[in-house]
Amino acid sequence: MLLSHHPFQRSGAWAAALLAGLPHPGLVGDDDLDRVAARIAADCERAGRLAKGASGWAWLVRLAGMYPQSPPVHPSRAKNPQPIGARVLDFLGPDPDPVHVVEQGGRVWPCWMCQVPGASIRWGKDKLPLSDSAQHLNNSTVYGGGYPLCRSCRVAVWALPYTTATSATGLNVTVGCWDERTERTIATTFLAVNQQARAEGWTSWRQGPSAEDVLWQLLADHRENRVQLDLQRWSNDNRTPRLDIRHLSPQAALRLADLHHDADPAELRRAARTTGHHPLDLALSPDLLDQALTTAPRWAAHVLTALDPDQPPTAAPTTNTIHATTR
Ligand SMILES: [Zn+2]
Repeated sequence: MLLSHHPFQRSGAWAAALLAGLPHPGLVGDDDLDRVAARIAADCERAGRLAKGASGWAWLVRLAGMYPQSPPVHPSRAKNPQPIGARVLDFLGPDPDPVHVVEQGGRVWPCWMCQVPGASIRWGKDKLPLSDSAQHLNNSTVYGGGYPLCRSCRVAVWALPYTTATSATGLNVTVGCWDERTERTIATTFLAVNQQARAEGWTSWRQGPSAEDVLWQLLADHRENRVQLDLQRWSNDNRTPRLDIRHLSPQAALRLADLHHDADPAELRRAARTTGHHPLDLALSPDLLDQALTTAPRWAAHVLTALDPDQPPTAAPTTNTIHATTR
């Protein structure tokens, strides 16, 4: 399994590797693809059969925000005579022989994500998040509807939920970077949260930490990793798909890590909440931070100045007295 330039494929490729018990996507072979596809299908089957709000419902929420109208989340899923898992396994199956496809009058392309030749299975919005519907021929005329994907990338795209987190505002969060060691750390951390959610049968993602909190803790635990992180916060909702891309510079990541150690993270969160944001949001956007410093109550603005990159790190306020006297 290759690591492509597509952030969803990369994150999903790491998920597939970890689910297969391997340290790198490059080691994922055909047998591993079979096993990972079977695991994904079994989890889809289980989630798709849940009554609304039942134990484990959070996983269905995750799937619904990624693959609307797909077998596990389709409104009429219970009426379909074919099991959900079998249908998922079917579209995560091996690639048809490209020679045979061409002989039958079909077409093959390099995989849209990893560029490996011989892909003939095309996916649209229901299986490939944030793409066009496969029926929208005008939007993807190069391929005549949908995007051709090889099997490895199809499995990666459906392993994506396992390394995704949910933001405080309910959006999917995919975190990427161009350093493989850091990518593995991020994937391992988010996978652990998702495994906890599955083991404990969370019905809502609010039962666990927000993606922003998980990432902040991760930055604090891996302060030595000086890389830019790319945050995609998104929803593939049927009516209002969203994608917000932000870049966390190595400097901003380091500042957040230091604040986690030296300041009071809970106090920073409380201060940021008065502006409707998470400290991570404010660290990601200088404009948002400027606005927050202007509009927040005085005690909160004082706390939030610690996030200002123009302030020396030692300016991180120790806030207990401020907190006690101003609220
Ligand atoms: Zn591919």
